[in-house]
Amino acid sequence: MVINDQCFVAQTATEKILLHVTNVCAVCFRDLYEGEDVYYDMQEYRYICRECAERLSEQMNDACEIEEEQAGLF
Ligand SMILES: [Zn+2]
Repeated sequence: MVINDQCFVAQTATEKILLHVTNVCAVCFRDLYEGEDVYYDMQEYRYICRECAERLSEQMNDACEIEEEQAGLF
């Protein structure tokens, strides 16, 4: 699956991120480990795991808006 790099910035989880920012995915709350790929969500200002970045990328349009979840809100 493809991750939308307009919306998510791929980074390697460093000790610094894990200690000072977060050590869990902001979406599914699983543990993140040093050295794995994590993704910075530029819309929500949070770090998420690869699985969540892939899933959200599928739901997002080019403007990084989640299309499915917004349907019917307005
Ligand atoms: Zn996740």
